[in-house]
Amino acid sequence: MSREDYEVVIGLEVHAELSTKTKIFCSCPTSFGAAPNTHTCPICMAMPGTLPVLNEKVVEYAVKAGLATNCEISRDSKNDRKNYFYPDLPKSYQISQFDKPLCEHGYIEIEDKDGNKKKIRLLRIHIEEDAGKLNHDEFGGGSLVDLNRAGVPLIEMVSEPDLSSSEEVDKYLKKLKSILEYIEVSDCKMQEGSFRADVNVSVKKKTDTELGTRTEMKNMNSFRSISRAIEYEIDRQIDVLEDGGKVEQETLRWDDVSGKTFSMRDKEDAQDYRYFPDPDLVAIRLSDEYIENVRKNLPELPESRHERYINEYNMSEKDAGIIVSSKYLSNLFEEASEICKNHKAVSNWIISDISRILNEKELEPNEIPFTSKHLADLVILIDKGTISSSIAKKVLEEMFENPREPEEIIKEKGWVQISDENAIKEIVQKIISENPASVEDYKSGKEKAIGFLVGQAMKLTKGQANPQMLNKMFKEEINK
Ligand code: ADP
Ligand code: ZN
Ligand code: MG
Repeated sequence: MSREDYEVVIGLEVHAELSTKTKIFCSCPTSFGAAPNTHTCPICMAMPGTLPVLNEKVVEYAVKAGLATNCEISRDSKNDRKNYFYPDLPKSYQISQFDKPLCEHGYIEIEDKDGNKKKIRLLRIHIEEDAGKLNHDEFGGGSLVDLNRAGVPLIEMVSEPDLSSSEEVDKYLKKLKSILEYIEVSDCKMQEGSFRADVNVSVKKKTDTELGTRTEMKNMNSFRSISRAIEYEIDRQIDVLEDGGKVEQETLRWDDVSGKTFSMRDKEDAQDYRYFPDPDLVAIRLSDEYIENVRKNLPELPESRHERYINEYNMSEKDAGIIVSSKYLSNLFEEASEICKNHKAVSNWIISDISRILNEKELEPNEIPFTSKHLADLVILIDKGTISSSIAKKVLEEMFENPREPEEIIKEKGWVQISDENAIKEIVQKIISENPASVEDYKSGKEKAIGFLVGQAMKLTKGQANPQMLNKMFKEEINK
């Protein structure tokens, strides 16, 4: 049998840290990067006799996430203890949710490889606390515990095993991340671990009706590693089956350097965690009114912006997709268009030059250093004819290097467009006298020769001459 005879089945458990100001059961701050153990208190350090109190914002954020992913919101929910020992978990249990999660039975839509819409079902979204962090080998071989992250609120979003390739996983994760960013419940900074996925992979023969045995790779926080790890794991599992072996259900560790997965431990079952309701916390009851209120205050979601850009602005499906993929780009587009009233130009700048520079500099859209006003002003300067679009490209590069008003950049660099009739005429005459052959070409009917002459004039003026004026003036002068 070959790879074509197998079907890939993938389900994801995504953890997102919520961007509430304080932790889930105490009032310690959640911000990242503080000195170890400075964001702690007796509650998140699990001192005897302390009691947790649920942060209401955590419930609100989780409900927002549930509504934005088409979930049913539970009116009646609770917190459970998930028992296990690990040095970064001082209570020896994690407060999570077991059989009554806050949100259930949602879905998000992605496009499959044929461009058709595909629903990826969400089994549940529940709230839980993050664990602390172990710092290994930083101080002479030992491991030190930092509890700043202990008690930071998380939502865990569990998908059904509906994904069939690493490409679909990539689309799903990007969509989910963008939804969470739009509704402002998580900053989703993958490098800081605030958006990470446990990836469950299995394969089965197309003719089999039952799912194959899955392996799980935990806490993956880069799109690239996730794709590579999935591809590796698919090949490995098929090889095992083709050799007549059996895939073991286990937790694997992906190693980015060797590009391989390694066995970490046998997979635990739910019963190993001895879940039970946390007796220190009250049940979570939500009224219809509460839920409706959260729903009313949801901001516009990427899906709806996508539709709107296509209908209102006549954008192509693809261009609209690029812009709404990031809330930051989408806001930049809306704000700049509002100021300069030229949405076509703004979307072109975002899709072409801005995207290209982001790629080259390996920047995320939210790291764009200039404001939407700066971008709008750049468009206005082109529309007024103050600068040509080739100068505008140089101005944009400069806005990335040292962000300031484009007008200021142009003045400083002396990049103003030459639109003075007499100045243009002088340039045109000079180029004509220097290129008699091209002039003859044009006279004998070779229209293209004008393009060459304009190009020479642009070169001479370092891109500053007004190209429309050059075009017109060359024709006038030659036809005289
Ligand atoms: P846990 O991993 O915590 O024990 P579950 O048993 O609910 O939790 O499964 C977790 C994830 O594994 C879900 O996202 C689910 O879609 C996925 N999953 C379950 N069975 C398979 C399978 N055979 N192949 C791939 N993914 C699977
Ligand atoms: Zn605390
Ligand atoms: Mg799991």
